Amino acid sequence: MTHFGIGVKDKKYEQIKNHLSRWLDKDEVIIALFNANHLYPLVTGMVLTNRRMITIYDNGTNIKAVSEICADDILDFTTEKEMGKFTKLMVIKKNGEKLLPCTMSQEDILVVSSLIAKMSGTPQPIAEKIYIAKTTEKAEHNRIATEQKQQQAKQAAQARRERKQALVDAKQLASDRAKSGQCPKCGSNNLQAVHSSTKKGFSNTGAAGGCCLLGPVGLLCGLCNSGQTQEQSYRMCLNCGNKF
Ligand SMILES: [Zn+2]
Repeated sequence: MTHFGIGVKDKKYEQIKNHLSRWLDKDEVIIALFNANHLYPLVTGMVLTNRRMITIYDNGTNIKAVSEICADDILDFTTEKEMGKFTKLMVIKKNGEKLLPCTMSQEDILVVSSLIAKMSGTPQPIAEKIYIAKTTEKAEHNRIATEQKQQQAKQAAQARRERKQALVDAKQLASDRAKSGQCPKCGSNNLQAVHSSTKKGFSNTGAAGGCCLLGPVGLLCGLCNSGQTQEQSYRMCLNCGNKF
């Protein structure tokens, strides 16, 4: 049976329980939850388990354990001067260091006193558990990132191989088609032989004169000047229009 301090709602308890339970020891249970006023450092509540006292900060969505004291470390528990309707609560640790101060109602403080007497044990510190979890999570994150990178590299290499193979296949197919008298592009047999001739060059006597003056360059011009006919014969695919 969990004790609820003044003003603690079921919903708040469920929220805090859900958040804290993963950080508690296996057989550790929450025995009480109290509201607390901000005093140090942003403490909004106090949780008692059967083996530790935890001050928490929560702003509705964000809950975190601010500090904690193992039951075995609580040697002295004192209340200090009145602050309006709230009383300052102080917990004094074994070494005399004052820890976990927060303001609570007088009624709540009396309950805390009686519950502390029933608590005992030295649980594993929450901060330590969080550190271990974070380290493990980081290592896991890195492992997954490395794995993803390797997978991506593998896929890229496979894609390159496939593209290369596709090119080889396409070349082979075109060559096979050409050999069997088909259009290399679409494989059609519906081909036509085309023969064309284009007249090139120009007739300019000045250029012919240049032949003698300019030597080899002029000679080239002279060749052009003589006028050449470019003969072209190819086949055309009547199916896809490919010329080859
Ligand atoms: Zn074709």
